[in-house]
Amino acid sequence: MLNIRYELVKEKKAKPDWDNLGFGKHFTDHMFIMDYDAGQGWHDARIVPYQNLSLDPACMVFHYAQEMFEGLKAYRTPDGSVQLFRPDQNIDRMNRTNERLCIPQLDKNDVLDALRAIVKTEEDWVPKKEGTSLYIRPFIIATDVQLGVHPSKSYKFMIITCPVGAYYAEGIKPVKIFVEREYVRAVRGGTGFAKVGGNYACSLIGQEKAEKMGYSQVLWLDGIEHKYIDEVGAMNVFFVLDGKVITPALEEGSILPGVTRKSSIQLLRDMGYTVEERKLSLAEVEEAYANGKLDEAFGTGTAAVVSPMGLLDTGDQKMLINNNEIGPVAQKLYDTLTGIQWGRVEDKFGWTVKV
Ligand SMILES: *Cc1c(COP(=O)(O)O)cnc(C)c1O
Repeated sequence: MLNIRYELVKEKKAKPDWDNLGFGKHFTDHMFIMDYDAGQGWHDARIVPYQNLSLDPACMVFHYAQEMFEGLKAYRTPDGSVQLFRPDQNIDRMNRTNERLCIPQLDKNDVLDALRAIVKTEEDWVPKKEGTSLYIRPFIIATDVQLGVHPSKSYKFMIITCPVGAYYAEGIKPVKIFVEREYVRAVRGGTGFAKVGGNYACSLIGQEKAEKMGYSQVLWLDGIEHKYIDEVGAMNVFFVLDGKVITPALEEGSILPGVTRKSSIQLLRDMGYTVEERKLSLAEVEEAYANGKLDEAFGTGTAAVVSPMGLLDTGDQKMLINNNEIGPVAQKLYDTLTGIQWGRVEDKFGWTVKV
């Protein structure tokens, strides 16, 4: 068991309007922190009042972005209990990201203890309305005070949490996606597979461009040939071509291995669909479209779970997908996955973990 010191608030904050939570706007009463120092390892785990940090402006994180993060949710089940969805997967990914960024490894059990402890402490912040949840953001920053370029010898691991509203408060609406051909998000040998802030910083420009043109997200192509499909926005992507489900393979290391992606592949196969993980070119999707065989396209991620694509603009043509409606594959996947996460559907894979 991770030894956690508790310093609890004397007075809790007023709770937000549960009907207007939005995403990432309201933070809870407490936060988890644990420090790392070379020679000492991770130490001084504590849950303290949510507060500002005081950091030297020369801290390495501000200059060379030695930083990583994770994202998962705690769900309120019909019996009033709270559960996590496959936290072991997030913890494994955290250590893969850490390895890539030269951040020290974390003990798996310690991170699970920390996740459970902070969610338990903030249990009254886990919302109860349909589709709502408590978003959990673990992250690590490099805190050495010096401007030399090499891995920091000290870090802070923190977990903050925020109640978030239903992603689809007005029902699932397909989104318009723009194929980005100028900028890329990741390259082979880079950090695409790691959850790091830097990947987001460099993708903002494409996102801005797409939004200005009236699209909600961009479809990223591979960084070398600009031919193969990587991801859509900050989600993994699935296409249903002629009844077969296809999602880009992870081998190149430029795609973030989503927990929702992995779970979706497993669930879809369990439902009897053929799912292929392989290279998928934009040309293949365009050809399927021309032959009337582009059945569905959707993104997957913790925030939206499943986000159907209604329109895909390649720059050469605007492809209308499934008449701008959610298709049967995406709908079935969404219902099953959200059913398991919120405890309404039997969890036959043993994916959920009670807090
Ligand atoms: C987090 C993330 C995803 C989705 O991962 P989940 O574990 O399913 O939430 C996909 N793409 C990118 C770039 C991400 O950062």
